[in-house]
Amino acid sequence: MERSTIVRVHEGLHARPATRFVKLAKGFESDVEIIKDGKAVSAKSSVKLMLLGVKENQEVVVRATGADAIEAVEALIGYLENPKAGLDDESESQSPASGAAEAARPVPAPESPKTAPAGSLRGVAASEGVAIGPAFAHFPPQITAQAHQLKADEIDGEIERFRAAVSAVQARMDRALAQDSLSAGDRGIIAALRDIAADDTLTGEAEKQIKGGTDAVSAVVTAAATIASDFSAVDDHYLNARADDVQAVGRQLCLALLGQDDVSLENIPEGAILIADDIGAWDLARAPLKRIGGVVCGHGGATSHIAIIARSHGIPAVLGLGDKVNALRTARQVALDGNSGAVIIDPDAATSADFAERVEAAARERAGLTVFKGVTPKLANGTVIEVAANIGSLEEIEAALDAGAMGIGLFRTELLFMRHMHLPSEDMQAETYSALAKAFARHPVIVRTLDIGGDKPIAGIEFPEEENPFLGWRGIRMCLDRPDIFKRQLRALLRAAVHGNIKVMLPMVSDIGEVRQTRILVEECAAELKAEGVAHAMFDLGVMIETPAAVLIAPALAKEVSFFSIGTNDLTQYIMAADRLNPTVAKLNDVTNPAVMSAIELTARAGVAAGIMVGMCGEAAGRPDLIPIFVKMGLTELSMSPASIQRAKKTISAMVGSA
Ligand code: PEP
Ligand code: MG
Repeated sequence: MERSTIVRVHEGLHARPATRFVKLAKGFESDVEIIKDGKAVSAKSSVKLMLLGVKENQEVVVRATGADAIEAVEALIGYLENPKAGLDDESESQSPASGAAEAARPVPAPESPKTAPAGSLRGVAASEGVAIGPAFAHFPPQITAQAHQLKADEIDGEIERFRAAVSAVQARMDRALAQDSLSAGDRGIIAALRDIAADDTLTGEAEKQIKGGTDAVSAVVTAAATIASDFSAVDDHYLNARADDVQAVGRQLCLALLGQDDVSLENIPEGAILIADDIGAWDLARAPLKRIGGVVCGHGGATSHIAIIARSHGIPAVLGLGDKVNALRTARQVALDGNSGAVIIDPDAATSADFAERVEAAARERAGLTVFKGVTPKLANGTVIEVAANIGSLEEIEAALDAGAMGIGLFRTELLFMRHMHLPSEDMQAETYSALAKAFARHPVIVRTLDIGGDKPIAGIEFPEEENPFLGWRGIRMCLDRPDIFKRQLRALLRAAVHGNIKVMLPMVSDIGEVRQTRILVEECAAELKAEGVAHAMFDLGVMIETPAAVLIAPALAKEVSFFSIGTNDLTQYIMAADRLNPTVAKLNDVTNPAVMSAIELTARAGVAAGIMVGMCGEAAGRPDLIPIFVKMGLTELSMSPASIQRAKKTISAMVGSA
């Protein structure tokens, strides 16, 4: 029995829909296959199904043989033809659970680079703060194939041993999943690994090799490597990231077979600096984060999974050191500066004392600052200065609320797009933006529309090769050329605006036409939603001021928008013509340069004259030395990483006395 159909499942059979499809198929006794482009795979294996790469609007055949073949084909075709299949699970895929989080390209580091002390290494400043402590090197040894040839009478026993190892690993993952304390993100990570451990692609391939006389460990190593390389070869960021997941499960199986425990993070000493090439999903989900003093990794960038976790737990982190991380393998003590990206191996007495003093001072300051959490900073004339948070994912809401954020001044939506196998659906985006609006019900939530370019491509958008991606097809430029993508985001934002005080801002604006075109699209989206009977509300539209052009046309722009938010990270690089990611020109990349400060002042003046709110969401907004200057220029909103909020509130409160 077989039938062909066109797949209507939204965004195709990616992780969650594939798992659901497999679950449905497993409910039937019949053997069921799905065939695409002449290639048939078992519909009962989510790994095989994902590797088949079934996309929305592709034609497939479902074939079943067995007693309930007709029912099986009907049910599975029904699933494939349902555009909403899998949609309700989509919010999961934006949690760090999706291995894609680790494939996500880093957005530029949030901190502008500063000069590193002599003799130190430099990586990406991924989570602010300084730390010094004993090094805890986490470089789990590679497990290699032993290539031990089994005798014929050993094979059955080896298969039994292998099956026991599979059960043990699955049981361990089930126990981990049963913990109440597990966050949604961590639960997703473990569930994804559990899926692979339960799938017969890896275990079946390993068993086949054992039956051929290969010892179980070698069989697992080879099978995991083959399947991982299949995932790596697929032209899809999301699926590439599954390769790491397969290797992680393979490793757990080998350890169970060898009767060994993995090098565990559970015993990391209090305050130690965790040094690793990479921290795998499985390790990370179980790491005692409260005990970790700092993190230094060869892999990762400012928006990698570990960076987000580190930031939300207030752990200083320097990532992306590459091979240089190997120099730290034998270090006894490590000092790191998560603001500058500097890492110092075995610091001398003077440096140690300096870091220890900075760590202590930071702790003292943190303790003294908590009283500012609930403060609403006001100037002598009663003007409230909103101190808001910059975040990029729902996981960071808690840290923002804990810090006392008066709303969100910048929600970077890139991560939502980068963590997803395909472009995120309107429903999934609406859900995310609504959750944000609800979390900050009394305060504004400023969502920035997609700010992405050829330097950090995402699945679903073809970027041209560009000589100069930072001056190229990015941000609002790309969005206006791709109304299909842009309108989906605008519709989601209109829908979310029903749930709170959503405001929307456009990145990289350099021409007034970009604002006008956006407004037309917003009106179009609102009209469509109205016609469809979908609840929605209009939001305030603002622009980021981060190009010299925007500064120079600020008076005209101010007449067309509700607010400005100055993006000093980009504004500095564009005003100074100094790449913000290039440490060689770091000295020029200085927001306090008179050229940049005067651009900020021009912007503030134009905004104040037009009576619109002027805020700032670049990193400079959190600098206590600059905050009084910005406030005096007329800025009434400052948005920063949650860790800087209480200090900023204190700085502004102190101004009242001095005003
Ligand atoms: C900025 O450019 O200042 C900004 C806040 O945006 P991003 O750092 O995301 O480019
Ligand atoms: Mg920017």
